[in-house]
Amino acid sequence: PAAAAGVSWDGKGRTRDGRPVPVMANVGSPADSRAAVEGGAQGVGLFRTEFCFLDAAAEPSEATQREAYRSVLEPLAGLPVVVRTLDAGADKPLPFLSMGEEPNPALGVRGLRVAFDRPALLERQLSAIVGAAADTGARVSAMAPMVATAEEAHWFAERARAAGVERVGVMVETPAAALAGPALFEAVDFVSVGTNDLAQYTFAADRLSGALAELNDPWQPALLRLVATLAREGGSHGVPVGVCGEAAADPRLAGVLAGLGVSSLSVSTAALAPVGSELAVHTWEAYGRAARAALASGSARGAREAAARALAEEG
Ligand code: PEP
Ligand code: MG
Repeated sequence: PAAAAGVSWDGKGRTRDGRPVPVMANVGSPADSRAAVEGGAQGVGLFRTEFCFLDAAAEPSEATQREAYRSVLEPLAGLPVVVRTLDAGADKPLPFLSMGEEPNPALGVRGLRVAFDRPALLERQLSAIVGAAADTGARVSAMAPMVATAEEAHWFAERARAAGVERVGVMVETPAAALAGPALFEAVDFVSVGTNDLAQYTFAADRLSGALAELNDPWQPALLRLVATLAREGGSHGVPVGVCGEAAADPRLAGVLAGLGVSSLSVSTAALAPVGSELAVHTWEAYGRAARAALASGSARGAREAAARALAEEG
């Protein structure tokens, strides 16, 4: 049993009626991994690899990368871990992947886009990830950030599979990816919704702008509708749809996401116990009713209130 913020849970995410909704952790360092395991994480839904190299002036060699990933994966032996390939650019510049001056870095060459004209960079990283997985016994999947089209998802999946990755996914962080439909689901084994960026790009509101924080509220019905569409379409293709953005760390919203059909949640370690314990408070059916009420609302505040009312009815 793990405890954080005064809440305890038994380390198994599930609704009151027993529907499993695994609660995983977001990590970026060996210390994060150890804390995640202590905090009861059922695995890692997002390993931000760029955090390993924020100060690197030159591209780390494959051997250096393998060692860095090994140290993060080691505490996670036997657990499922989603390793995200480098997400450089915009709010997370990496000196060795500098794109020079871009007029609008958030809309520039970032995430997977960096690899399109230098695929060898991605291939070296994928080999290092596969090597580190073999070194540690973590059950590793690889996932690409900032994908906009099904074609890009295919491009990544081909390279990941060629490198020996068994389970391949992409993040859905752009409205285009959320609306790509069947072709996206045919390309990958899973998708993970990055609600921080998906909100930013859906509302055309910089995620770092305090003045625009209300637009980046993850309860915004338009954002929830994109997640609902993804979960429904993913479900009909047998492709699990997880959420690894901050939205999943709001315990009440975590239940609503489960009610929309999201199959797993990945949150910062501090949110594991609050999210895990809140999921067990209501049945999946009640979370579904709360989700439908939130979707029908005209504002983020209205969605919050409608969900709360729907859940209060179950008691
Ligand atoms: C996101 O965009 O929601 C996400 C999880 O990725 P990051 O916060 O690293 O951009
Ligand atoms: Mg992101």
